[in-house]
Amino acid sequence: MGSVYDNARSVLDRIAESAAKSGRRPEDILLVAASKMNTAERVREAYSAGVRAFGENRAQELEEKLKTGAYDGAEVHFIGHLQRNKVKNVVGRVKVIESADSCELLGLIGKRAVSLGITQDVFIEINIGNEERKSGIDKSQLDELLSFAGGTDGINVKGLMTIPPRSDDITKTKRYFEEMTNLFIDMRAKKYDNVNMTFLSMGMSRDFEEAILAGANIVRVGSAIFGERNYA
Ligand SMILES: *Cc1c(COP(=O)(O)O)cnc(C)c1O
Repeated sequence: MGSVYDNARSVLDRIAESAAKSGRRPEDILLVAASKMNTAERVREAYSAGVRAFGENRAQELEEKLKTGAYDGAEVHFIGHLQRNKVKNVVGRVKVIESADSCELLGLIGKRAVSLGITQDVFIEINIGNEERKSGIDKSQLDELLSFAGGTDGINVKGLMTIPPRSDDITKTKRYFEEMTNLFIDMRAKKYDNVNMTFLSMGMSRDFEEAILAGANIVRVGSAIFGERNYA
């Protein structure tokens, strides 16, 4: 593994190549560097390499890094499972909550946003592989969630997010990506209030190039930039 700086440059180059292969410009694809368990210094190093968006999984880590100015000049996405009691710590502090996965959560986010006098952008997380014990909704529930969003003040649904089942067979992963793209296109064609389907967030370190080729316009990349996480 190289330095965070070199890794980030190389990921940005690979994104540009995949964008070109899919007939898009590099700036059409947003790199969200998943910085969980990494220090503010390492976040700044990625920033200095040109990374302009960061993703955090935990409300507490988000708060700590916000305090140090780690993300200054960049946008922040919340990408982890959002517990109900943490909604107040996240709404209004991030550009988008990518991991909304129930009507209840959408309602709580909206309520908090209204009390702050803002509108919070959210994505709906889809459990595309229908895996047990994984966050995200089944795709069959999406219409229901989007109708609910239409009647909820304080939120704007801007996209879909997914983490496909982990597999060593890239052809399987590609099939999930393509399924997500089709779902995204279908939902974009429907008109719901408070819903503007613009972003499709999928693809991580091991498969972000395939995700872009399949239609992603946001990729969330952690270990390819920051190295393997040490959970010890
Ligand atoms: C950690 C994380 C990523 C990045 O994973 P890598 O395999 O390290 O690239 C992307 N999305 C979410 C939701 C994550 O928690």
